[in-house]
Amino acid sequence: MSGTNTVFNSIGVVGAGQMGAGIAQVLATFGMKVILQDVQPSALNRAQQSIEKSLQKLIEKGKVTELAPVVMERIRPTTSMEELGNVQLVIEAATENIETKKRIFQQLDDVLKESAIIGTNTSSISITELASVTERPEQVIGIHFMNPVPLMKLVEVICGQLTSEPTLEQTSMLLALIEKQMIRSKDFPGFIVNRILMPMINEAIYTLYEGVGSKEDIDRGMKLGTNQPMGPLELADFIGLDTCLAIMQVLHDGLGDSKYRPCPLLKNYVAAGLLGKKVGHGFYEYPSAKASQ
Ligand code: NAD
Repeated sequence: MSGTNTVFNSIGVVGAGQMGAGIAQVLATFGMKVILQDVQPSALNRAQQSIEKSLQKLIEKGKVTELAPVVMERIRPTTSMEELGNVQLVIEAATENIETKKRIFQQLDDVLKESAIIGTNTSSISITELASVTERPEQVIGIHFMNPVPLMKLVEVICGQLTSEPTLEQTSMLLALIEKQMIRSKDFPGFIVNRILMPMINEAIYTLYEGVGSKEDIDRGMKLGTNQPMGPLELADFIGLDTCLAIMQVLHDGLGDSKYRPCPLLKNYVAAGLLGKKVGHGFYEYPSAKASQ
């Protein structure tokens, strides 16, 4: 699992939340140096703790053979965007908000070398639109990892209107190196996975909102009745309710069909700061997540 690849010796990850931390961990596990950037120093601290915890578990299970400090040593946390200047690839994994992402893309376009690729882990936002704020739209690509990144095999790859073949080739090469399975989606709102998953989660929230069943019965029904490993409300908490709402809004705006309207209960939970597992409260309570806040 050590770095055999020179093109991607050093990779930037922007946003050190659940996804950025997971992406940084996987890249470092495969021997790559990672510069992990976030505007919030507290997010960088939490990311380091969560990476260490996840690595310990994977080491105990024999899935990672190196010691945690050896892998952690490859991840350099920073709040400075300028430190990304020399990398060949940045994977942006900041909050699912188009304005935030556009600002980051503009900053990256300024600091990165000309040949560098900007990948984005967006769950739903148009790659073409994000690319349009840069001077390098042919070097912008969607690289949509699944949560939790160290365990989930799939990565959805999305080319924007102007994404070039070499950008796609380099992305495929990286994904092969880190042993992920790739599917291709066209640049449509929500791509493939969230176009299908998120309306199901939203419908589960409507089912709760309309009093059709309790949260426990909705989740047990879908787990035992449709063989899903997690119930949809539990999964929504795991993804983050703010992210779920943002994705529904992109589907609703982008596809223009009322069937994608976000459930009012989802909007209320987000407005109340009940964002799911990452903050300790969502449809369920997560005491250990609260303790690490
Ligand atoms: P999160 O809320 O856990 O983390 C987002 C991080 O972005 C925070 O640490 C925040 O400080 C940082 N951030 C915000 N603005 C920034 C800026 N200007 N510069 C640098 N960092 C900034 O969110 P997450 O769940 O990790 O999601 C991140 C991205 O990954 C989103 O685009 C989301 O849609 C996507 N995604 C999420 C999941 C999931 O299950 N949560 C799965 C696949 C993809």
